[in-house]
Amino acid sequence: MKQAEIVVIGGGPAGLCAALSAVQSGAKVMIIDKNKNLGGQLIKQTHMFFGSEKQYASIRGIDIPEILIKELFKYKENIEIKTDSTAVGLYEDGIITVLEKEDNYYKIEPKAVIVATGAYEKFLSFPNNDLPGIYGAGAVQTLMNVHGVKPGDRVLMVGAGNIGLIVSYQLMQAGVEVKAILDAAPKIGGYLVHASKIRRMGVPILTSHSVKEAIGENYLEKALVCKVDEKFKPIAGTEVTFDVDVMCISVGLTPLNELLAMRGCEMKYVPQLSGLVPIRNENYETTVENIFVAGDATGVEEASAAMVEGFLAGLCAAAKIGYKPDDFNDRRNDYIIQLNNLRSGPAGKHILAGLEQIRR
Ligand SMILES: Cc1cc2nc3c(=O)[nH]c(=O)nc-3n(C[C@H](O)[C@H](O)[C@H](O)COP(=O)(O)OP(=O)(O)OC[C@H]3O[C@@H](n4cnc5c(N)ncnc54)[C@H](O)[C@@H]3O)c2cc1C
Repeated sequence: MKQAEIVVIGGGPAGLCAALSAVQSGAKVMIIDKNKNLGGQLIKQTHMFFGSEKQYASIRGIDIPEILIKELFKYKENIEIKTDSTAVGLYEDGIITVLEKEDNYYKIEPKAVIVATGAYEKFLSFPNNDLPGIYGAGAVQTLMNVHGVKPGDRVLMVGAGNIGLIVSYQLMQAGVEVKAILDAAPKIGGYLVHASKIRRMGVPILTSHSVKEAIGENYLEKALVCKVDEKFKPIAGTEVTFDVDVMCISVGLTPLNELLAMRGCEMKYVPQLSGLVPIRNENYETTVENIFVAGDATGVEEASAAMVEGFLAGLCAAAKIGYKPDDFNDRRNDYIIQLNNLRSGPAGKHILAGLEQIRR
């Protein structure tokens, strides 16, 4: 059995910032990530980030992990990084079970845990939705931006939120034709600045539209699309067919936090936070003592909020096990102010309504 002070599960933006904040306070930290590389969602985001300077705005997503990892290595005597390692259990006795590579299991007994496992993509049900050529937006981004593989030639994007709009733009940059972007909602969900740019490039954005059926023998050949009413029911006689070899589904994310439920943390379904999320206090500590959470695992927002939540959770977890720096109150207040600022826009209202329901 390995002993550890703080174990951070997930090395995306939230986990990296949590680890950095905790080592800066003097704690020893182990980061566990199931991927071969740290960075989470950021490793495929070639666009420059929006937000404020403190959350690395105007820097490309793919470059942010390197900056954070470089900072972490200033404390290398207190950092242990385990990649290709999945936390498969977080048990009532506080033990974590890790699967390293494919067949090596081991256990860790930590003093505190920060769960920063991110989110997974939602999918849509329609006839033939399992035909080759139908992907989640994350898979398309990974193919293009991590492996340099073009997913196809003609794409139908389903979902006009920020992810759908940004991935559409990246597809066009890679020379792929985007035939149209659909959204079942009557309004575009993503930032209008992204939507306008895409419209100027000649791509129609069809709101109140959804997929009726995918058509093809061995792979996707056409997509049958129709208008939907305010209850998202198909309107007969409005069907249109698109000749596409790729359909990219970008209809939202769901927090990935089963480990917290397994550990016995109180959870609540909160639609504004995109699913089942843990009840937690202002320090991001769950209802189980010394189990903290940060990032999309505590409610889907953006990387900027995930990073600040990570900094706050790392600071508070370290303080909880005895590493309380002199500037604890100043740092904590600064992170809370940053989060309030990030949530002060129109999209923030929705998030704040969700957070109200899970505050301890
Ligand atoms: C196309 C796209 C564009 C975006 N653009 C922006 C933008 O411009 N600005 C912005 O602020 N945000 C943006 N975001 C959102 C942002 O990427 C996410 O909000 C952010 O990555 C969430 O960070 P996280 O650390 O919580 O989760 P993730 O980045 O998902 O990281 C979670 C990590 O946990 C690991 N993990 C999961 N389960 C386990 C386990 N059991 N054991 C070990 N490891 C595990 C995963 O491998 C992963 O590395 C965008 C997202 C997408 C998809």
